[in-house]
Amino acid sequence: MNVKASKLAAPKAPQFTASDDRISAVLARSREISDLSAVLSLAAWDQNTALPEGAGELRGEQLATLQGVIHEKWVDQRFGEQIASLADAVSKSSFTDADRGLLREVTREREHATKLPRGLVEELARVEASSFEAWKKARATSDFALFSPWLARTITLQREVADRYGYKGTRYDALLDLYEPGLTASRVDTLFSAVRETSQRMLRRIQASGSDVDASLLEGSFAPERQMELARVILKRMGYDFARGGIAQSPHPFTTDFGSPYDVRVTVRPDERFVDSSILAAIHEGGHALYEQGSSPALARTPLAGGASMGAHESQSRLWENAIGRSVEFWQGQFDAMRAAFPERYTDAQPAEFARALNRVQPTLIRIEADEVTYNLHIIIRYEMEKAMVNGEVAIESLPRIWNQKYKDYLGIEPPTDSDGILQDIHWTGGFGYFPTYTLGNLYAAQIYAALRRAYPDLDARLASGDTAFAHDWLRERMYQYGKTYEPEALIRIVTGERPDPAYFAEYLTRKFEGVYGLPEEPVSTAPTPEAPGEKAARPAPARDEKPRAKKR
Ligand code: ZN
Repeated sequence: MNVKASKLAAPKAPQFTASDDRISAVLARSREISDLSAVLSLAAWDQNTALPEGAGELRGEQLATLQGVIHEKWVDQRFGEQIASLADAVSKSSFTDADRGLLREVTREREHATKLPRGLVEELARVEASSFEAWKKARATSDFALFSPWLARTITLQREVADRYGYKGTRYDALLDLYEPGLTASRVDTLFSAVRETSQRMLRRIQASGSDVDASLLEGSFAPERQMELARVILKRMGYDFARGGIAQSPHPFTTDFGSPYDVRVTVRPDERFVDSSILAAIHEGGHALYEQGSSPALARTPLAGGASMGAHESQSRLWENAIGRSVEFWQGQFDAMRAAFPERYTDAQPAEFARALNRVQPTLIRIEADEVTYNLHIIIRYEMEKAMVNGEVAIESLPRIWNQKYKDYLGIEPPTDSDGILQDIHWTGGFGYFPTYTLGNLYAAQIYAALRRAYPDLDARLASGDTAFAHDWLRERMYQYGKTYEPEALIRIVTGERPDPAYFAEYLTRKFEGVYGLPEEPVSTAPTPEAPGEKAARPAPARDEKPRAKKR
């Protein structure tokens, strides 16, 4: 964490060498695939926000057909030859970073596609759609038995996918790699044991202090339409461009892009009793959306549009949600929006009191509503469970019991129902490997936030004056515009001047909550930074033809 003068010049704006025939040939194919994927994302967006109940199965068939068509495009022989010819050229003469990024991404995506037969790709889409419908019903009625057959099917299919992709360590590694290129379970184990230690230590200190934060200011009766309006106001102030986006409600908040910065949509889920749930979701999804909207137009309709990885993506949602969106200064600058939306509740309230309420630390059952200290424990629970589901033999019926036991062990609480337990998240309707990227995102976020603070020593004063544009501009310039031109680790170096270093998170979390709870400063354990994964080079990124582009909360 020793920052030497990190004055690396940022790379130039990404640009393809379109005058080169080999680049333009690969770009033409990529655009076709990107357009089809965008239509797929649109169908998935609709499925989540508007689809009539009776059409769930039909939509599954439609998604499967489209996935099959996209798959054919990827595995096309001629496309393979065009990629090979580009690879040959790139190895011999100079090309731009975007050209090399394009080659890297099409190579890895095609490699993935060729390992799966079309029938399996279609079956994955069908099962995901049915699983989503089953999950909605199961969660609404808290009946795990409605969901379990689909979860069992998903486990079987994901194991097959992992085996076909291949892996060096454990089967789960092949799935992790889809969300974060190069990430392995052994690397996650190392990172997470430090995060677990930091989080549990902080939690113990807070609990031992006996002091509590009053969060009653977040409770009341909040009309959903006004919450939606408030979410719009806050998103707009963050710099989210509604001319290139939109907001809707869905059972689980998420962000969808359509392969370009021109259309990036978000959803939230208002809770009538707790105002923070929709506000923080709006800021979280807003962070994803700013990243997508900030990606250079030159990258539109190519595999380089959007974020570098899910970890990089979650770093932005979590940075905006937590480091900025839960700060006193942010609310000093934005509290007029709360007062305008709910005058009866907030006219006499103070922003500092409101921000303090947003930082109450208390073990709770629902991940997306968790405070920053306990949040990663929710992730670790899910990580351990999905690793076991993919690698080992876990009886499906025993999963709710294992879930509840882990909540007891890690957080000291137990879900009264499966809706508040194993059924709360949408993620397992589609596969495994996403959850760890949230914690990885938290680690990246702390490091990027520290760099932002170095760039703006007056950051607090700016936020307090209502200014967030400086942060948005800085992030767009240093990070967002590059899309997926660089791999996550290289990108973190560009943004922060250093390689990824988890020590920033320990420092951030410890100092922040010592402040919130008025605890004396204690040294933050500075365990030696684990080395970056060694076997990274050959490992590829998400096969876009398998998953709609949804960033979930
Ligand atoms: Zn997210």
